[in-house]
Amino acid sequence: MAKTAKRATDETLAVKYPHYVKGSVSFDAKAIKQRAKAICTCGKTYTCFTSDLFQLTACPDCREKARADRKAAKKAETTTAVAQLTAEPKEVEVKA
Ligand SMILES: [Zn+2]
Repeated sequence: MAKTAKRATDETLAVKYPHYVKGSVSFDAKAIKQRAKAICTCGKTYTCFTSDLFQLTACPDCREKARADRKAAKKAETTTAVAQLTAEPKEVEVKA
């Protein structure tokens, strides 16, 4: 019974998440959660909770890189915005 349920979970995960490594589900007794292995686009294998598989499609290294890229992009955006503001200063005239 339990064996069938586990196999079904494995199949479901494999269908839902292409990056999931088949048969890699293990139980984390400490977290009371299931862990699974997944493959990143860079070819590295990483471990995460099965409940996080939907959002964790990259290995920690690639996630860190993506975060750094996003941060850099945001910083560039802010710098441009500030530059535009300083380029055209708007003076507010107060008329009596
Ligand atoms: Zn990666």
